[in-house]
Amino acid sequence: MGSVPEEEKAPGFGDLLSDLREVYESGRTQDLEWRQSQLRGLIRLLEEEEEEIFDALHEDLGKHRLEAFRDEVGVLKKSVVDKLQNLKNWAAPEKAHTPLVAFPATALVVPEPLGVVLIFSCWNLPIGLALEPLSGALAAGNAAVVKPSELAPSTSAFLAANIPKYLDSKAVKVVEGGPEVGDKLMDHPWDKVLFTGSSRVGRLIMTKAAKHLTPVALELGSKCPCIVDWLDSNRDSQVAVNRITGAKWSTCSGQACIAIDYLLVEEEFAPILIEMLKSTLERFFTRPEYMARILNEKHFQRLSGFLADRRVASSVVHGGHFNPKTLSIEPTLLLNPPLDSDIMTEEIFGPLLPIITVKKIEDSIKFLKSKPKPLAIYAFTRNEKLKQRIIDETSSGSVTFNDAIVQYGLESIPFGGVGFGQYHGKYSFEMFSHKKAVFKRSFLIEFMFRYPPWDEIKMGM
Ligand code: NAD
Repeated sequence: MGSVPEEEKAPGFGDLLSDLREVYESGRTQDLEWRQSQLRGLIRLLEEEEEEIFDALHEDLGKHRLEAFRDEVGVLKKSVVDKLQNLKNWAAPEKAHTPLVAFPATALVVPEPLGVVLIFSCWNLPIGLALEPLSGALAAGNAAVVKPSELAPSTSAFLAANIPKYLDSKAVKVVEGGPEVGDKLMDHPWDKVLFTGSSRVGRLIMTKAAKHLTPVALELGSKCPCIVDWLDSNRDSQVAVNRITGAKWSTCSGQACIAIDYLLVEEEFAPILIEMLKSTLERFFTRPEYMARILNEKHFQRLSGFLADRRVASSVVHGGHFNPKTLSIEPTLLLNPPLDSDIMTEEIFGPLLPIITVKKIEDSIKFLKSKPKPLAIYAFTRNEKLKQRIIDETSSGSVTFNDAIVQYGLESIPFGGVGFGQYHGKYSFEMFSHKKAVFKRSFLIEFMFRYPPWDEIKMGM
């Protein structure tokens, strides 16, 4: 064990970090059996505490238990089971090609844990956004700290009480608290930080991480567009509308980073689409408790603030009722709000859905290319040429055709934005691993032309 670096003694969390580093340095977390036991512990936590999780999510966000199962417990359990089944393969050294000139030699890529990592999670999927990265960190053999969002206090308390019960409490810690606690945690030199939250705080995290050159992965927000093509079949159009309605309003009331932010549709299809959305909303949300609550007054004010712009308010074609007492907002459709208004320049993160019309559906590609790269692009279409153009000509964390949000539940594909890290499934393991290059040579053959005195003829030049 090396001595504790000076900066880890900074007031705040220095002791916590040095305790974790001591556990990590002991080698315990790197042992494959330890990693598997932690994954099994996570599965038991999800199974045995399922009801408590549902209660916490209901208290924090009014999430229905079936939504909580679909988006958090169910998806997560599937993903942790996948890690448990595949960990041995993922952790095994991978053989790499060696050139003839190096013969005899072996090249390997050996995954190694990073050390002690810090995970900031967000309040909208407060179980999944804490435990999916944690499962990756533990599978990769790290010691870890989870800092849940203070804005989902019941879930935060649940994690603080239960993680030590099911996981190695010396190697995995939960630190509860708000921005000041997050800020203090960032005073220390972590081996990696994964942050899920707003771009504003993401910038602060990156700035503080720079002091120690701590590697950072940022899972931020964006405006995810959804192209809806004319499908020429009532049945398929209804399937598309079911999926759009479910993705937008039954996933935390649109408070999801990959929620559909706005639709792009041809002018003449817009009135039909609006009617179909209205009737589907009526069929799906027969009880108020089928939609999660807006998180808090601040977010309620932020969302109602979009309609303070009179141009935006006059574009409402359905809904638009806000109840400050219950913090509920009716599913709201807006037709062509001005493109320079806040609702079209900021991430909505709530149950408001602008519909933007284009002359031809192909025009939507130009529209997308004029915007920042989103986390996800969705398109409902049977037009293969259009699909290929979206893949080839646009950039985003993911592209999903003929569905929305469900890509989040696939552990076989990476999840994240462009450029700041990706996780889920094997990618969660990779997020918290370093691929160490190992090159082994023998003493057998020795080519003297690689050393001075230089001889161009012997070098074959
Ligand atoms: P936020 O950015 O305010 O907070 C996120 C976390 O950072 C919390 O744990 C919080 O306590 C902590 N924090 C806040 N201020 C801090 C500071 N100064 N120093 C250190 N830590 C601090 O969260 P928010 O704005 O309520 O979250 C919503 C955003 O998160 C949206 O933009 C949404 O799209 C995004 N999001 C992204 C994903 C994703 O996977 N890409 C998932 C969920 C949410």
